[in-house]
Amino acid sequence: MYAAEVSSQLRSLNWLAQEIRRVPAGSREGALLQSQIDALRARLPVALLAHHDRLTQGGRASAAEVRGDRCGGCGARLPADRVASLGQAGNFSVCPRCGVFLWAAKTGARPRRQGTLPPAARSRHD
Ligand SMILES: [Zn+2]
Repeated sequence: MYAAEVSSQLRSLNWLAQEIRRVPAGSREGALLQSQIDALRARLPVALLAHHDRLTQGGRASAAEVRGDRCGGCGARLPADRVASLGQAGNFSVCPRCGVFLWAAKTGARPRRQGTLPPAARSRHD
């Protein structure tokens, strides 16, 4: 599994964990959210899930975005080599202080894949 995929699934898992706390226990929404959580968990490596579970036991998120060279979870300054490796496509790491999974937002968000070509690609004359 690609690091980018793991990172985005972890973020989804965190989001779902937040959502499920907001809906009434035993509700249909709760069951739906739980099934999405289960599906995500089934695709993530066990070691990673164990770390995620330890972090989220206290209701914390297990993933935080890096802001500049600091952990978005605890504010710790991160080693430069760690920040640099996070800058590479989809890489993620772990904060040395608070242990959250770190991810870096892309500078210049990747455009969503669309069914149509950009106009420039279609204006070719044969
Ligand atoms: Zn941290």
